[in-house]
Amino acid sequence: MARYIGPVCRLCRREGQKLFLKGERCYTGKCAVDRRPYAPGQHGQGRRKLSEYGLQLREKQKAKRIYGVLETQFRTYFAEADRRSGITGENLLVMLEMRLDNVVYRMGFGRSRTEARQVVRHNHVTVNGKKVNIPSYEVKPGDVIAIKESSRSAEGMKNIIETTASRIIPEWLDVNHDQFEGKVVTMPTREQIDIPVQETLIVELYSK
Ligand code: SF4
Repeated sequence: MARYIGPVCRLCRREGQKLFLKGERCYTGKCAVDRRPYAPGQHGQGRRKLSEYGLQLREKQKAKRIYGVLETQFRTYFAEADRRSGITGENLLVMLEMRLDNVVYRMGFGRSRTEARQVVRHNHVTVNGKKVNIPSYEVKPGDVIAIKESSRSAEGMKNIIETTASRIIPEWLDVNHDQFEGKVVTMPTREQIDIPVQETLIVELYSK
């Protein structure tokens, strides 16, 4: 599946907030949102009053950018979220949260979602003992996600785990960094998904 490969700090500046797309850099003084807190481009510093559509569009773009999903795939997620029982907006966020690359990131096996995606793509991850290299793979409660045994001693992986050791792991996951594995305990609730997106605006946008 295709992915965005342009400059990512520009995306945060466009949304006017930190989306934490670059791992540790996001927590330093080098963050572009801290240094240039206005939208990119020639008119970035002009006054900006958004229409109702503009607000809805921005929320959708933000969600896509946080999870690294492009438009076509995002629409597919929305259609499936709408088809499932429950609240569409919450279903959408839960489905995005249950992507394998996101779960690997949440477990601390990637400093950013982009890095977690790379860890998955490069065959370092197993789900219930079987190799899975599809970042969009949807995990389920009970699944055990692990770093493949032969990848555990790699310097890169050790560095990642050292850097993410202090990260707060969400309650719906149970992680053991010493064993390089974690379990999906339950589906996350909306309250447990800490992303700054108003999903109702996305539903309104797609329901037009
Ligand atoms: Fe966004 Fe991180 Fe870049 Fe800051 S450093 S603008 S939070 S990606």
